[in-house]
Amino acid sequence: MFVEITDIIDESPRVKRFILSTLDGSNIEFLPGQFVTIYNRNWPEFSNTRSYSIASSDTCSNSIELCIALNENGLFTPWLFQLNKGEQLEISEPQGQFVYKQEYAPFSSVFICTGTGVAPFLSMIQSALNIGQSSVYLVFGNRKFDDILYREHFESLSAEYPNFHFVPVLSQENAYVNNGYVHAYYASILRDIGGDARIFVCGWKNMCSETRDKLKQMGYNRKQYFFEQYN
Ligand SMILES: Cc1cc2nc3c(=O)[nH]c(=O)nc-3n(C[C@H](O)[C@H](O)[C@H](O)COP(=O)(O)OP(=O)(O)OC[C@H]3O[C@@H](n4cnc5c(N)ncnc54)[C@H](O)[C@@H]3O)c2cc1C
Repeated sequence: MFVEITDIIDESPRVKRFILSTLDGSNIEFLPGQFVTIYNRNWPEFSNTRSYSIASSDTCSNSIELCIALNENGLFTPWLFQLNKGEQLEISEPQGQFVYKQEYAPFSSVFICTGTGVAPFLSMIQSALNIGQSSVYLVFGNRKFDDILYREHFESLSAEYPNFHFVPVLSQENAYVNNGYVHAYYASILRDIGGDARIFVCGWKNMCSETRDKLKQMGYNRKQYFFEQYN
């Protein structure tokens, strides 16, 4: 389907939020956590698609948001970053199995990510809160304070929902009390929860594989944790 870029927001020095709206006002419906694939038909087939998680809280609307980091040495993101409002893009229907399901309601949820890996969590966390899960944690790793995507959104969610716990972690700045890497923080949260939890991990390869190793070491199994890896 074709969509129009109706807004582009500079979210951090290297990340833009793209708002994409349907041309006829119809709704795009997706499962919390899904992604779309963008096509550039002018390029050879091997390089003309890239996938992006849908970064909208609302899972049924006539627009969706994507949150995209520029990779200066990449092919697709330098092209996306020179597009303007009013231009059209071709995207797939929402797809993917990394989704938040109603059946997770009886458990605590721990969402773990770095950078744009937070994108699918906007809708997944909203779903977890809507169904009244007893505790929902977001452990979000970034280098610096200015890199924390959607910080104000998550801060206001924590103010609104006592069961939502926002745990930003900075590796290169002391602006928050949580410094270092995400691993020590989710490990301590999981130890405190004690019982069964559902764990969702999203982002680039290294963080995902380190987290998978750590969760296995802690005794968690494939029914308890779920991954979306970006490369
Ligand atoms: C399910 C899914 C969801 C995703 N969601 C998001 C999201 O929400 N936000 C987001 O920002 N990203 C997301 N991604 C990642 C995204 O799909 C792209 O991989 C990313 O934007 C980089 O694309 P690119 O074309 O700019 O870089 P690419 O061209 O794919 O390059 C990637 C790396 O390969 C290197 N490279 C490229 N060409 C060469 C070459 N010829 N020789 C040597 N090295 C080379 C580059 O240096 C670069 O570091 C997601 C990925 C998946 C699979």
